[in-house]
Amino acid sequence: MNLDDCRRLDAEDPLAALRGHFILPEGVIYLDGNSLGVLPRAAPARIAEVVSQEWGEGLIRSWNSARWIDLPQRLGDKLARLIGAAPGEVVCTDGTSVNLYKVLFAALTQMKNSGRKVVVSERSNFPTDLYIAESLCRERGFTLKLVDDASELPAAMNDEFAVLMLTHVNYRTGAMHDMKALTAAAHAAGALAVWDLAHSAGAVPVALNDCDADFAIGCGYKYLNGGPGAPAFVWVHARHASRFEQPLSGWFGHAAPFEFSPHYRPAQGVARYLCGTQPIISLSALECGLDSVLAAEAHDAGRGSMAALRTKSLALTDAFITLVEERCPGRFALITPRAHVQRGSQVCLALADNGPGAYAIVQALIARGVIGDYRAGDSQMPDILRFGFTPLYLGFVDVWNAVEHLVQVVELDEWKRPEFNQRLAVT
Ligand SMILES: *Cc1c(COP(=O)(O)O)cnc(C)c1O
Repeated sequence: MNLDDCRRLDAEDPLAALRGHFILPEGVIYLDGNSLGVLPRAAPARIAEVVSQEWGEGLIRSWNSARWIDLPQRLGDKLARLIGAAPGEVVCTDGTSVNLYKVLFAALTQMKNSGRKVVVSERSNFPTDLYIAESLCRERGFTLKLVDDASELPAAMNDEFAVLMLTHVNYRTGAMHDMKALTAAAHAAGALAVWDLAHSAGAVPVALNDCDADFAIGCGYKYLNGGPGAPAFVWVHARHASRFEQPLSGWFGHAAPFEFSPHYRPAQGVARYLCGTQPIISLSALECGLDSVLAAEAHDAGRGSMAALRTKSLALTDAFITLVEERCPGRFALITPRAHVQRGSQVCLALADNGPGAYAIVQALIARGVIGDYRAGDSQMPDILRFGFTPLYLGFVDVWNAVEHLVQVVELDEWKRPEFNQRLAVT
């Protein structure tokens, strides 16, 4: 693969024009949309309008006139199209960690009289998911069982097994689970399946209803481009929608908040997963992010939601893997699965000799405008260089240039410079 191949792929790319929907700094190749998505071009004006008109002029009237009151549901309906859900099944609200608390609480409540007391997850799951599960299990008399490898999941689905809690695409490795098969296995064993879509929504096709999942949550500021700390989302399968229990029983989840009744009566459906007054400015920014992803729908040509994005995402990650292996032979080990069905929209590399330098290489790349990130290893996992590929605004020449910079950083020993070896607070 050479630079001309990359130029040709860009020229033939049906999604190339979508880059115009984003504001990207000059000279930056952004490979970190899996951590913080980029700024949609529509967002600054929309946020200014919400602030100066809806807030400034409309004031309290805007809860009705600008329809602030059902913004979480309206955004949920847009998001539903990206995750294989139906309108009315999703709300955008609160943060990912908080939403996980809510759905896991609901799942544990449903299972509390089943005699089953074990929640199963992976040790490599994102830590906040494990922390939330740990405290909820302790509080509610369940045990959290962590497997070291996905191959151990079937054996963990025994008589004790109550809830499977997994992240669909692993944040460190980019490995993607078979949601349908694992959900079916969990159900066959008598348990519920809770999925975290933080690295899936807007990144890979997700079919929650087709997979028959029970609960799902996900993040607004990664591939959905909702802005730093954007509201997250919650989905609940229709069969649970009006019986699941919301532990944070605030007034926005009440059936009739403006009756100001002294007793809690949950709203029907997923609306009960709202808690308090919603962050309207942040939700408005998130809407621009959702629209920026939905813009790709026009190119799906009836192949189903996310088909065009997925095709390009796999082509970009394939190109990156090929170029790294051709141009830095023997230097890096590929951590992300090669098989397409097991790959999210990111590529993770470790140093082949497992020596030091992963952090410094990432820092040296950032200094050259190639922004990826680093995740520290432990006894089980090597240090990782992590590169997210967002097909909405990345092209194949970007991939070529990113690898060219990587080759130079490594061959010129640039990463050994002291300034690239000082650990920052956020890696
Ligand atoms: C990014 C991420 C989160 C983030 O949680 P916040 O509450 O938004 O900080 C949670 N879970 C997973 C799997 C993630 O990748």
